[in-house]
Amino acid sequence: MTQTAEQAASTTTIEPIPHWIGGEPRIATGGRTAPVFDPALGRQIREVPLASADELGEAVAVAKAAAAEWRDTSVAKRQQVMFAFRELVSARRQQIAELITSEHGKVVSDALGEVARGLEVVELATAFPLLTKGEFTENVSTGVDVYSLRQPLGVVGIISPFNFPAMVPLWFAPVAIAAGNAVVLKPSEKDPSAAVLIAELYREAGLPDGVFNVVHGDKEAVDALLTHPDVAAISFVGSTPIAQYVYETASREGKRVQALGGAKNHMLVLPDADLDLTADAAVNAGFGSAGERCMAISVVVAVESIADELVERIAAKMAGIRTGDGRRSCDMGPLITQVHRDKVAGYLDVATADGATLVVDGREAEFDGEPDGFWLGPTLVDHVEPSSAVYRDEIFGPVLSVVRVASYEEGMALIASNPYGNGTAIFTNDGGAARRFQHEVEVGMVGVNVPIPVPVGYFSFGGWKSSIFGQGKAYGPHGYQFFTREKVVTSRWLDPSHGGLNLGFPQN
Ligand code: NAD
Repeated sequence: MTQTAEQAASTTTIEPIPHWIGGEPRIATGGRTAPVFDPALGRQIREVPLASADELGEAVAVAKAAAAEWRDTSVAKRQQVMFAFRELVSARRQQIAELITSEHGKVVSDALGEVARGLEVVELATAFPLLTKGEFTENVSTGVDVYSLRQPLGVVGIISPFNFPAMVPLWFAPVAIAAGNAVVLKPSEKDPSAAVLIAELYREAGLPDGVFNVVHGDKEAVDALLTHPDVAAISFVGSTPIAQYVYETASREGKRVQALGGAKNHMLVLPDADLDLTADAAVNAGFGSAGERCMAISVVVAVESIADELVERIAAKMAGIRTGDGRRSCDMGPLITQVHRDKVAGYLDVATADGATLVVDGREAEFDGEPDGFWLGPTLVDHVEPSSAVYRDEIFGPVLSVVRVASYEEGMALIASNPYGNGTAIFTNDGGAARRFQHEVEVGMVGVNVPIPVPVGYFSFGGWKSSIFGQGKAYGPHGYQFFTREKVVTSRWLDPSHGGLNLGFPQN
């Protein structure tokens, strides 16, 4: 007898996802849980435990004990672990990507790109002996030398968002670990499995038990991490209100904090831009990962003289986007949850109520997937006013707004007045205009004819204004600064000439 899809779904067992503590999976029993969905199927596939403060505390205690040994493990050994981890992530990238797709919904090719960008940081972390070398000055005074060391912080907490379940943990953990810290990662409860797979790969790479731990949860676990006295630092990525909350709470507890927040990224298009290439860029950067990227372009700022033609070309290219199940070679997958899908779709009503024009309405799109999936097709909204919530809010979905401006200056004023400052791009063939833009714009990551200017691993990633709070950006040189603290030693080796009383302040 053949089963209907509904019967199959109802008889499928829901897999519990384990925490990862002390080098092994830990199935939580009896506590709170949350469902994990496959967004393309629109049904629950796994269940994630939501840790209590006590469970979180247990992981911190394990990490603290491991950190004490790990910091004294030779640099060569730590580097070997990083090289082995790099090989394993590279070899298992397809498995990681498919796991991401099953819980996040992004298409597999995009998930592979996420793993590749995470790998860049692992590769950077293999170079940590070079990057954390101290400095030495001989004879600052006769027979006195001064040198600096960089030492790990101890236990560090990482709290990551749903939209990059592998890449964001890999922005921080490899650098933290290579520098000699132990990590407690609290991944997003919406797509937590990639973090556990990463933990398995660390173990396979030879990382000692307890140096990398994963504790699932929600606000309760986050609050426990932010206030735990044995956690020295917090790296957070997520929405701006939570980033600000994390920054304020953990800073009050005396911790070092970096908290990367939300975004509203503008792409300024000048009249001399190549409109065909610009339209490609807007479509790729607006609808990749269904717009659920902190570096997605969500606002095209078009100078009026080319706006009609640009909108026409963007709309034409959007017709080629195949929305559907990420395992079926589609271009764009579903949104993360039904609630989020409905919230994003709600902005399309706001757009028309506010007098904007719905050029392409994603609610009418066809999709290649199960009917219960969290589908919304790519949407293009023209004539958006900066006073509309469609412009002001971070929608975080496949909705591309076009705001028309009279000039470069008006476009710049719009970008400057926006509270976010994560990424931006200018499209032009005028080198002088591009140089002026990169000099003047108040945004942390800038593209010149590059719509998603995510810095490579050996630079650092982070925005400005309300897109970041706290100390330093992610990975690159900032990463090493963040996960180590400097100690400066002044040293002399005493001989009989150094005797005698002298209560004065030391001088050279
Ligand atoms: P989110 O802020 O809802 O959640 C992020 C993390 O915080 C999750 O682990 C979540 O469990 C936890 N959290 C949620 N609510 C909390 C609360 N009230 N108290 C304590 N912890 C809480 O973000 P999200 O929806 O998972 O991710 C999307 C957001 O992340 C977007 O705003 C996006 O722009 C942003 N983001 C920013 C960057 C960046 O580099 N700036 C990168 C990726 C994503």
